[in-house]
Amino acid sequence: MNPNRQSDTQPASHALYTARSTMGADSRSARFISGSHFRSVYHTPRHVYVHVPFCRSRCAYCDFSIHAGRRDPWEERYMKALKKELMLWQRAPFFPLPPLETLYIGGGTPTELSAERLADFFSLLRATFGPLDAISEVTIEANPETVTEDLLSYLRTTGVNRLSLGVQTFDDRLLKRLGRIHDAARASDAVHMAARAGFSRISIDLMFGLPEQTMADVERDLLMATQLPIDHLSYYNLQIEPLTRLGRDVHRGTVRPVDEEEEAEMYERIIEFLAHHEFYQYELSNFAHPGGISQHNLAYWTGRSYLGLGPSAHGFVSGMRYANIASLPRYVVAGEHAERVEDFYATKRVLSETEMIEEFLFLGLRLTEGVRRDRFQERFGRSLEDVYGDLLSRLAARSLLIYDDTGIRLPKDVYFISNEVMQSFLLTV
Ligand code: SF4
Repeated sequence: MNPNRQSDTQPASHALYTARSTMGADSRSARFISGSHFRSVYHTPRHVYVHVPFCRSRCAYCDFSIHAGRRDPWEERYMKALKKELMLWQRAPFFPLPPLETLYIGGGTPTELSAERLADFFSLLRATFGPLDAISEVTIEANPETVTEDLLSYLRTTGVNRLSLGVQTFDDRLLKRLGRIHDAARASDAVHMAARAGFSRISIDLMFGLPEQTMADVERDLLMATQLPIDHLSYYNLQIEPLTRLGRDVHRGTVRPVDEEEEAEMYERIIEFLAHHEFYQYELSNFAHPGGISQHNLAYWTGRSYLGLGPSAHGFVSGMRYANIASLPRYVVAGEHAERVEDFYATKRVLSETEMIEEFLFLGLRLTEGVRRDRFQERFGRSLEDVYGDLLSRLAARSLLIYDDTGIRLPKDVYFISNEVMQSFLLTV
């Protein structure tokens, strides 16, 4: 997985609560929500995320909780703990679940599991959620270096119908700097191999704002990407975390980060280029051909319930957000003693109605279609205007928001500074 994607699965804990501490004046004048009109639709999870924490080695920019290197005996212990977690979830009142809509197997690098362990892993998922080919979208993340023809055919026959490849860039020099184990040729080969194996839904992850990356480098990546048989592209801005190898190099001055102005220009170019190649931008960092939108990620951004399983996974059920224990050794030990599914949690937070509304706005405004007024009304039993009063027209007057009959959305030129605008929708300090 690309740790810069954490906003997909950790929407509330990051953007929202960061914003809470830096809120602007507009939000203070918005009305506080009380009452109990929140309608508990979406409480039964129809979406599942499973985290597989193994990687061959740690990338230079990664501060994610993964287990790099030797996998024995951790694979086996991970499987045991995961089995226990699934068993305990089956005691939840909403089990047995109706057929899932999406299943997402992420990491780490799920395809790092040995063939034998992968077979156990899929049997466990089938035993819990039923046949995988009955689920309309089953995605697995893979590193191009771990992909072989045999593995891809096996995944297809197991019911996996979408592949997400962590490419990051097609520039070998930059890939090396990022500490990735593949090179550009291997990344292209992996995509073609997947297409030959029958994957019609292939997504790749790319990053911009890489140290010493130029606009010409970004354009080369775009050209390479759009010549591949993919239907989806996630394009993230690299966040350099201080406690990573890259973070330390930047601190020592041996690596020069790209400045914010350059990043903003790259982002603008990416949007423009992809639009010319029929990649519709449906979210701030995600682009798809028609029919290629990730339904799983869409479930996060539209506030659906989902189960998160495995170390460091996040979930949202019955109005509660939880995060599992991140460290693999601690997750495994929790599995040995767990009597309730809560024993796997590192944190949990039951959201108030006000927080649900804030989240709905924060997540919904990441989508280019924004927050539709009918969906807001259906979800909360009140209108956007009831909750936000004249804040909406004030933001629109400053060209920070498009506010019309369909609802609210961000103007294109605000995407890069979206967090600053989203802060305005906080209702509480
Ligand atoms: S592939 Fe690299 S970036 Fe992704 S989780 Fe593994 S170590 Fe981190």
